[in-house]
Amino acid sequence: MSNRRLAARGTGAGSGVGRATEFQLVSPGEPNATAGIGTALERNRAFAAAGGHEGAVVFPNLRLFVITCLDPRVDPAQVLGLGLSDAMVVRNVGGRVTPEVMDDVVFIGQIAEHVLPDGPLFEVAVIHHNQCGAAALADDTFRLRYAERIGAEESTLREHAVIDPATTVTRDVERLRSAPAVSPRISVSGHVYDVVTGLVQTILPARHRSA
Ligand SMILES: [Zn+2]
Repeated sequence: MSNRRLAARGTGAGSGVGRATEFQLVSPGEPNATAGIGTALERNRAFAAAGGHEGAVVFPNLRLFVITCLDPRVDPAQVLGLGLSDAMVVRNVGGRVTPEVMDDVVFIGQIAEHVLPDGPLFEVAVIHHNQCGAAALADDTFRLRYAERIGAEESTLREHAVIDPATTVTRDVERLRSAPAVSPRISVSGHVYDVVTGLVQTILPARHRSA
């Protein structure tokens, strides 16, 4: 039950996040003394020294464009075993297909059309997950405060909540598949990642808009 432990000493208290999602927000024990970019920069030096950057290309080897949540438990490099140059990745709260994310897909599609004059361009895989912090947007107090902070319409933020990832991922895949601006040569699939089992389940297999 450790992953359902409420974060009494975390940031959940009063924020709506703990109540809405019931997952462990912070590691047990003392705060990490090496927190911040320092440790990551040390790892970067080792990465460069080992030549990890060599051979990287712009167009992804797996012809894959991943849209997923920014939750650190859902890092696609780890969860999907992606290496450098394997995939393009866009991450935001919930892994939602917002207008900005849609524009990114269209942008990369337009570039890809120059690289690949014919045939399929790439697959967009939308991956939502259980225990998602975006569920906090279903909490009225949290959502109202957030809307006020960012100057957004509160009612539109409600639909960004991820309560049932299979439902929201289906909605976002349909959004991409029905968008006229998205090239019909781009296929779109929908998946749910289970943070408890570590497994990704496909909800909607890859399909092109025009199919
Ligand atoms: Zn999430």
